[in-house]
Formats: sequence, structure tokens, C-alpha cells
Amino acid sequence: MPAPIAVPTLGAFGVTIAGTLDPGTGVVGRSTNLPWLDGTAPAETLSRALGIPGVAVQDGEAAALAEARVGAGRGAGDVFVIALGTGIAGAHVVNGAVHRGAHGAAGEIGHLRATDADHACSCGGRGCLETVIGGSQLGVRWRERGGEGGTARDVVAAAGAGDAAAIATLDAAARGFGRALLALSALVDPALVVVGGGVARSPEWTVEPALRHARAESTFHTLPPVLPAALGVWAGAHGAALAAAA
Ligand SMILES: [Zn+2]
Repeated sequence: MPAPIAVPTLGAFGVTIAGTLDPGTGVVGRSTNLPWLDGTAPAETLSRALGIPGVAVQDGEAAALAEARVGAGRGAGDVFVIALGTGIAGAHVVNGAVHRGAHGAAGEIGHLRATDADHACSCGGRGCLETVIGGSQLGVRWRERGGEGGTARDVVAAAGAGDAAAIATLDAAARGFGRALLALSALVDPALVVVGGGVARSPEWTVEPALRHARAESTFHTLPPVLPAALGVWAGAHGAALAAAA
């Protein structure tokens, strides 16, 4: 084994992992994009190489932790962070720690039923939020309405140019997201919601109409403020550092 790399100014490190991770052992369960990580313990390997302690954190969890503690949710204490990307991830951060649930599956807002339509979801379910507003699904829904298909950005551009099918697609997406925000409010009642991810970069077509729908349908709910994420692509790195410093 090579000698440890000298890093005299570092006390600890954090590394984010794109995949499922056992928080107790640090062993990667499944990484769809980096399958060679499956079954490995990256923090342990790096720790031996660097000669300092370190932790591995699931990438979505790291980003949520950072947004809640030092990003848009700073000071709120009870923050639900949603990533509207290709897929949809959610994490409830309470007093600076991610609430994982009894089986590590809390926060899966992308798989709440959000539409009466029968769209098949990647999870095996139907009508999940991800099927109406997931970045890879928006183009599919647009094509079903007679549009060209493409990326979320293409759908937004077409809607901006007046394409009726794209406008209807984004309206259905916003209705679904509004429904999910109401469910979130009823079940979790967070003080603040932070929304990031590529689809959230066009809030006038997604987050803002979703909030209007949620407000129109709310009864007993107290809808929390919804803020855009503040840390961008660096959220994961900030979160890994926070986890390492804990
Ligand atoms: Zn699903």
C-alpha cells in the first residue's frame, strides 16, 4: 500500500456518493452511474490513503444538509429540501440533521401520487410526482400531447413561445407539484421549503404556479414559504464538509 498522502492542514474529509449508502457502515449499496463503487467503503479507503478520518454522505442528502444549514434554509431549523431534477429527491432537515426515517426511506416526495393520470413511474408505481415534473418526464408528457419532446428546457422554451401543448404540460406539472406541496404541508408541516434542481430554474412555469394551485386548494394547511436553493452545484461539497466537521 502507498504511504499516506501528507495533508497537514486537513483534520477530516467528507465525500459525496451518487448512490445508496449505508450510513452506519459507509458501504455503497448501489450506484447506478458509478457501478464500480458498489459494495465498497469509499471513506474508509480514502481515510487510509489520506491518513485522516472522513465520512461518506449520499449526494442528495449532502446537498439538502448544506442548503438547510448554510444555504437558503440557514437559520430556519426545520427545512424540507426538494431537488427538481431528472428525478426528484427530498430531504427533511431538522435542527441541522437529515431525518431519514426508520428504514432510511423518508423524504421520497417524487413518489407521492400527484396526478390522476396513469403515467408509469421508474419506481414501478403510477402517477407519481416524478412522472409529471421530473426533468426526463416533462418531454415525454409534452410529446404525448402532440409536442416535439425533448428536455425540460425545451418544454419551457416552447411554452414561452406560446406552444399550447407545452403550456398544458407545464400546467399539469405545476398542478402535480402543488398537490405534493399540500401533502407535504399536511404530513410534515415544515417551517420552510427550499427548491433546487434544473426544473426549478424556470420558477415562473413550475414553482410559482404550483404554489398558486396549492394555495387555491388548501384548507387547514399552513403552506410554508418556498425559497430557491442558494448553493447551486456546490451544495454537495458543502454538505460533505459539514458532515465531516460534525
Ligand atoms: Zn414513483
